[in-house]
Amino acid sequence: TGSKPDISREKSAELYEKSKTYFPGGVNSPVRAFKSVYGIPLFIQKGDGCYIWDADGNQFIDFCASWGPLILGHNNAKIREKVIEVMQNGMSFGAPTALENELAELIIKNNSYVEKIRFTSSGTEAVMSAIRLARGYTGKDKIIKFEGCYHGHSDSLLVKAGSGLVTFGETSSAGVPKSFADETIVIPLNDKNAISEAFAQFKDQIAAVIIEGIPANNGLLLQDQDYIEFLRAACTENNALLIFDEVITGFRVGFEGAAAHYGIKPDIVTYGKIIGGGLPVGMYGASAEIMGHISPDGGVYQAGTLSGNPVAMAAGIATLTELLRSGFYKDLNQKTKEFVDSIQRFATAKNYKFKVFTVGSIFWFAFTDKDIKTAEDIDPTSMDKFKVLHRELLNRGIYLGPSGYEVGFVSAAHTKIELEKTKRAIFDALDLVFRK
Ligand code: PMP
Repeated sequence: TGSKPDISREKSAELYEKSKTYFPGGVNSPVRAFKSVYGIPLFIQKGDGCYIWDADGNQFIDFCASWGPLILGHNNAKIREKVIEVMQNGMSFGAPTALENELAELIIKNNSYVEKIRFTSSGTEAVMSAIRLARGYTGKDKIIKFEGCYHGHSDSLLVKAGSGLVTFGETSSAGVPKSFADETIVIPLNDKNAISEAFAQFKDQIAAVIIEGIPANNGLLLQDQDYIEFLRAACTENNALLIFDEVITGFRVGFEGAAAHYGIKPDIVTYGKIIGGGLPVGMYGASAEIMGHISPDGGVYQAGTLSGNPVAMAAGIATLTELLRSGFYKDLNQKTKEFVDSIQRFATAKNYKFKVFTVGSIFWFAFTDKDIKTAEDIDPTSMDKFKVLHRELLNRGIYLGPSGYEVGFVSAAHTKIELEKTKRAIFDALDLVFRK
């Protein structure tokens, strides 16, 4: 096998030239610009099941899934029909609707980690609000976050670690005041000492520790059970709230997300992506007691013109109804496991420095022979290999998110046929990547 010719990108390139005159970098969210891969983003025209088609008519088996929400695949008939049905009656009222109750009931009745919830319109909003709630509830200001965890783009969370074990955060975006970053303490994952030291150094000042249920925004950084247990205990001991940001893992690794995966109860949990079925939704939830601090019951203000929007609620209801069918996660996770196991077997047999990290229906390809648990463990030079892999896969009709730090998602719409085809493409592409 050799390199395949590049797919045609004429129409995408044309659209990109135009979009660059309208949007910074030609896009409405940075990673879409394909900066770390081919350089010209593919403009997508339609999706159906596990397939997407770009403006040039190229067809791909999609593993990006709109960055996670599409656990049922593209253009799912049940979601589409429910959304259209609801839209016949108007699209937004800024007043309560029965649909919000319906989605809330599906969540709360089947999730032992939240008693009351609040819907938002994005994951960023959900997490930002959860942080405000933790601060309002505890009366403390500082938060601890982990290097390598992404929690959306609100100011106090766009912060990365400086040098040294326990440091004040350093902003990772222009425009975030240093004084905001000073309220965010950033520590490495998988390091119990760093947790203890942070709590000791900032005694009685920590409102919350926030962690991605299973960190999946900087590679897939699988944490040990006893580390998360340690974190839970440290929060309780120090009267700090533990926040699981389950925007990716919620309803993905199982209906009850990472919390159930570990069997550990966070104090506040945030969801997004899947609960909106592809429409803009986020959510945070906690015990009734903690949620009682949210306005209008309590003093923590949080609002939204389109929060609980009926169209988005409809998509969420249709999605979660499918996820609650018996065997849904078992089938999806099993299918994913067979898929990634055979890729790993292939790479191992060929002695390729390549590992697939996986949980549930999430996978991450890493060009390494090490166990990776922290952001620091990732060798940035290995991304050169991802770039080749990404291009070779596009040329074979396989679409991965355009960055080697991003995870991939298997959906219910991927059948054995597409997964077989994808495996063969990956084998060929890996042979090329590792060609001497
Ligand atoms: N938290 C996590 C864990 C996420 O993965 C994301 C988005 N990828 C967000 C928060 C922010 O969500 P949104 O992009 O919907 O604002």
